[in-house]
Amino acid sequence: MQILSDRIQQMPESETLAMTAKARELKAQGKDIISLSIGEPDFNTPETVKEAGKKAIDDNFTHYPPVPGYADLKEAIAHKFERDNGLAYKPEQIVVSTGAKQSIYQLCQVLVNPGEEVIIPTPYWVSYRAIAEAAGAKCIFVKTSIEHDFKMTPAQLEAAITPKTKLVMFSSPSNPSGMLYSKEELQGLSDVVLRHENVFVMADEIYEHINFVGKHASIAACPGMMERVITVNGVAKGFAMTGWRIGFIGAPTVIAKACSKLQGQVTSATCSIAQKATVRAMQMDPATSQDIIGMRDTFRQRRDMVYALLRDIPGLKVRQPQGAFYFFPDVSAYYGKSHEGKKIENSTDMAFYLLNEAGVATVMGSAFGDDDCIRLSYATSEDLLREALRRMRQALLNLK
Ligand code: PMP
Repeated sequence: MQILSDRIQQMPESETLAMTAKARELKAQGKDIISLSIGEPDFNTPETVKEAGKKAIDDNFTHYPPVPGYADLKEAIAHKFERDNGLAYKPEQIVVSTGAKQSIYQLCQVLVNPGEEVIIPTPYWVSYRAIAEAAGAKCIFVKTSIEHDFKMTPAQLEAAITPKTKLVMFSSPSNPSGMLYSKEELQGLSDVVLRHENVFVMADEIYEHINFVGKHASIAACPGMMERVITVNGVAKGFAMTGWRIGFIGAPTVIAKACSKLQGQVTSATCSIAQKATVRAMQMDPATSQDIIGMRDTFRQRRDMVYALLRDIPGLKVRQPQGAFYFFPDVSAYYGKSHEGKKIENSTDMAFYLLNEAGVATVMGSAFGDDDCIRLSYATSEDLLREALRRMRQALLNLK
């Protein structure tokens, strides 16, 4: 008899977390490792948010909160959706969870029956596949290309939809590509979705505030889409609040209620203190908040620097990301080459080669469904980035 269920045995380990752990382990052994594998801002949570968290403890917000979140937090989130996204979600359409990851997990559990199809453009954020499959979904991958900025076209979406399609999942700005969909591009995808009854969209907007090209566009704001879209967001990336574990959805009421029902059986609610701190974060207007603007400007400077350094490495195909804090260069020109008897055949070989040879931790593109690329996070200092890119360049040039 097997101890573990088929369900958990079939679930892959999170490869980004695994690479981060591997880098940490090598560091602990005294190796000089620069980690570009981690998906979190290197900033601290804004002071005003920390103060709100401390006050929540002093004010004894230490009891079970309502399952979908405190009323004042849901009000603040509704206001944020209106202010930043032009979306008129009512508080009962909002569910606050323990990170956007849990929000997406619950969504798949309440929406998808085993055997139904979930369309995921590649490259995708690692957990979409595991989360959809945990709900019994059949994932349908739509391959995008670096030439098209890793974006799915309406024609590709149309071709992927079948009578079994239930959900389409994507992030914009994207992890791992850093690309984002314009309002017009989202309108094109919406036109396709609206031609098919019963197809829903999970729009993951967690990198909304890390956008270097203009105003964030939400697909739920396209005419007719409020009933079809579940907008997922959180505080981890834009507010440097990864550890507080707060994510949320805005969704059609029936879906929000179902997520809340599931949450009531799983976590009861998310942390009361983190919720109170998040009220403050939601009050920060991205148009004027120096905390948000300062982080974005720093990321933009690093992006520009890393872009120049990557372009200086022969053979790499690289696009300039428009948001988030990742590069997703195509390194496949080096496949088939070797160094000291070690041949690079794919993105896993490449990530381990760079880790061992250059002491730089990246993540293999295969974790995101694209084996030609690797992902680099630039959520670290300019000095470390410069050194990491110097070492990477040398290691790649050593491949013959
Ligand atoms: N969506 C995307 C695209 C992400 O990159 C991440 C974090 N790596 C999440 C969701 C999860 O966010 P949270 O920490 O709020 O669970």
